Amino acid sequence: MAATNYVDGEWTEAESGETFEVTNPANAEEVVAEYAMGSTEDAERAIEAAAAASEEWAATPGPERGAILTQTARLLEDRKEELTETLTREEGKTPAEAEPEVQRAVDIFYYYAQKAGDHGGTVKAASGRGKNLYTKNEPLGVAGLITPWNYPIAIPAWKLAPALATGNTVVIKPARLAPGVAKGIIECLDEAGIPDGVVNLVIGSGSDVGGAITDHDAVDAVSFTGSSAVGHHVYDAATDDQKRVQCEMGGKNPTIVSDTADVEEAVDIVASGAFGVTGQACTATSRAIVYDDVYDEFVDGVVAAAEDIDVGPGLDGHDMGPQVSESELESTLEYVGVGQDEGATLETGGEEVDVDGADGYFVSPAVFSDVDENMRIAQDEIFGPVLSVIRVENYEEAVEVANGVDYGLAASIVTDDHTEANRFVEDIEAGVVKINEKTTGLELHVPFGGMKDSSSNTYREQGEAALEFFTTTKTVYDN
Ligand code: NAP
Repeated sequence: MAATNYVDGEWTEAESGETFEVTNPANAEEVVAEYAMGSTEDAERAIEAAAAASEEWAATPGPERGAILTQTARLLEDRKEELTETLTREEGKTPAEAEPEVQRAVDIFYYYAQKAGDHGGTVKAASGRGKNLYTKNEPLGVAGLITPWNYPIAIPAWKLAPALATGNTVVIKPARLAPGVAKGIIECLDEAGIPDGVVNLVIGSGSDVGGAITDHDAVDAVSFTGSSAVGHHVYDAATDDQKRVQCEMGGKNPTIVSDTADVEEAVDIVASGAFGVTGQACTATSRAIVYDDVYDEFVDGVVAAAEDIDVGPGLDGHDMGPQVSESELESTLEYVGVGQDEGATLETGGEEVDVDGADGYFVSPAVFSDVDENMRIAQDEIFGPVLSVIRVENYEEAVEVANGVDYGLAASIVTDDHTEANRFVEDIEAGVVKINEKTTGLELHVPFGGMKDSSSNTYREQGEAALEFFTTTKTVYDN
């Protein structure tokens, strides 16, 4: 039995009594934890609890809400080491990658604690003396949050903290593959004194628990991060019901390497963007679009960088951990086969790695050269450590290739030419644009989201943008 759901201030088992186990992707024989398998009924109870708590939480002064978030941040910080280890054991990131993610969650709670009293509205100039004209921001009500496994603490934090700061009550459903650290946040909120019903956690399947969140009449907003396939379904279901929706989805992120670039620097930027967190980031670099003049030198450099990466369990000090699950590993290996069948040259990697006989989902980082922009490996999100290197003649062709995919999340250029960099900012179809930086990583106070299929034109996350998403504005004339 596992009392891992949190509903109306109580830790509870699933109503059905069903449970499931999460195993370590670095060694599938190790069971990390057992969780309640929440159902539609569990989700509905959580939504009803959130709806019942909504009025009082909305009326709680912002600074009081902020004080609870500050205390949550402190408690998370106290548990940083343990949460880092849970993250590594459930999701596979190395501790060097997991620790900053846990720290990010801490920082997010501090950031929105400051904002909690600070998004009430604005005074506007009125059209005559004795008149007042102002805007008033109000919470939406109940927010349903659905999150993926790949940043299992940062993403729940960057949805929970602004939703709560602005006075919404919440039901969160983390991904089943790695729910332990999201549960850790809820434990800290509970210990920090969040009132009953204000935050609720239901762990369970996407179709049952996620489906209940997108369909229930009492849910006013849905914030989803995950794959485009599921995101489109969530978007349709939630907008059909007039809910406010935010969908952050996949990417096929390019880095252009100009002939003016320092090739060594470009190799570092692309290799860390492509192979960091085992390539399992929505902003991971999956296409290097390289000018002809520097192409061969770049390919040699990036192949050497890939071969230098030591793959194995992060807790044993290796550079790159496993893929999160057997099916993600199989999907990556399948794409490596597809790339070869399509005629690209597999320069290195793309093979399952056996580490000390452990039953782990390890793969060596793969580099494909001679990739045509229309190949599937250059179009589909692979979500593993696979880089496609595409040869182009000039800037115009590079941008056309970069924009020639359904996604538009993050993009970067490595160049020594400032005019070229500025043109890139104008021309590229991406929500996050970087110059001489890798596509992954973003400060917490700036808006985050994509264009095209990466966000379906929904609201941005993070920073002030998240406060906008979780509130509605009234314009008030007082004569
Ligand atoms: P996923 O399969 O789409 O799942 C995301 C979440 O949706 C999980 O909690 C999942 O539950 C749930 N879900 C599944 N089916 C559902 C349904 N019918 N209704 C409601 N919810 C449902 O994505 P993932 O594999 O966890 O994550 C990887 C994907 O996330 C990649 O495509 C990546 O690019 C994207 N991502 C995007 C961003 C961004 O900000 N743009 C950031 C990180 C990741 P289960 O527990 O059943 O899986």
